[in-house]
Amino acid sequence: MYNSKAYSAASATSPLANTSIARRDPTDTDVQIEILFCGICHSDLHQVRNEWSGMMPTVYPCIPGHEIVGRVTKVGKGVKKFKEGEIAAVGCMVDSDRTCPECKAGLEQFCPNMILTYNFPDKHMGGVTYGGYSDSIVVDERFVLKVPKNLDLAGAAPLLCAGITTYSPMRHWGVKKGKKVGVVGLGGLGHMAVKFAHALGARTVVFTGSPSKVEDAKRLGADEVVLSKDMNAMQAQAGSFDFILDAVAAPHDINAYIGMLARDGNITMVGAPEQPLPVSVFGLLFKRRSFSGSIIGGIAETQEMLDFCGDHNITADVEVIPIQKVNEAYERLVKSDVKYRFSIDMASLKNE
Ligand code: NAP
Ligand code: ZN
Repeated sequence: MYNSKAYSAASATSPLANTSIARRDPTDTDVQIEILFCGICHSDLHQVRNEWSGMMPTVYPCIPGHEIVGRVTKVGKGVKKFKEGEIAAVGCMVDSDRTCPECKAGLEQFCPNMILTYNFPDKHMGGVTYGGYSDSIVVDERFVLKVPKNLDLAGAAPLLCAGITTYSPMRHWGVKKGKKVGVVGLGGLGHMAVKFAHALGARTVVFTGSPSKVEDAKRLGADEVVLSKDMNAMQAQAGSFDFILDAVAAPHDINAYIGMLARDGNITMVGAPEQPLPVSVFGLLFKRRSFSGSIIGGIAETQEMLDFCGDHNITADVEVIPIQKVNEAYERLVKSDVKYRFSIDMASLKNE
């Protein structure tokens, strides 16, 4: 075991603060990574504040962070994919059982024994896993990803969650040239969704509650931007979409978007408000529409997404912050005041 610097929350109402944690020494199949950047996902905030207490209660102290990019500092003797000194990345999962049908299908995110990067049982150390708001992490090589060399590292970190979470459902639902795609909520996930929908060749429409984001949405690749409070503009979109990705982190009127789907259209939730959303069944019956959800993506697809980003030069638009500003960043996230992902420069942790 060795000590690692980190930022942790002691309770649902405590600010994140400097701490020291024990990490395991790398086993034969482990990669030890010095973390360079970690993105801030809205899920970090949900979990730190125990907003998902019904689904996955938070165990304290909680060390969030699942958008990790860093440099390999040590590898176990059985590790084949990575060498010391290389750049590597870790996303939302650090383990799974590797034997179930989901794992065999490359869909580790649905494995009943999947282990999330933080707040999940840690079979090596006991207690729960600790995430990326830290100066280092040790992860089995199967769950470590390669980052294309041309990508800026601060902007690449958010690809590990915001990127794969939006890329995966778009691939699943056949987003491509000739399709009309909506993106609801222009935050960390939403802005990645716009970049992917545009890169995949779809006609892309953004729905935002923030007038200040309209010009940005166009710059990010939207063909059209609709203010969700503009009822006329909303109604003009009725029955026209093949696919809508909803990345909103709070309760909102989902039926307004269901009504915008064309025949056989699908709306997928990736946003995760804890409270149930009322869904009008009649909205689904007419036009055989479907309403579904999606969570991150498998390891192979995460690597495919990173390679796609390398080929298309796609990274997140980030505001790089020192870790000392993490609590302020959370307050801004609650107000939808982020353009469009915070990425923590982990060098700042050395000053603690
Ligand atoms: P974020 O950066 O805070 O973005 C959320 C956006 O939703 C905001 O920027 C805002 O966009 C819109 N919004 C916020 N409050 C709203 C409200 N009351 N009504 C309507 N729109 C509202 O969050 P994120 O990191 O992208 O995460 C979004 C959600 O996805 C969170 O719930 C997170 O936990 C979840 N998530 C799920 C997965 C998964 O695997 N399914 C993975 C990661 C995150 P506008 O200003 O444009 O309106
Ligand atoms: Zn996330």
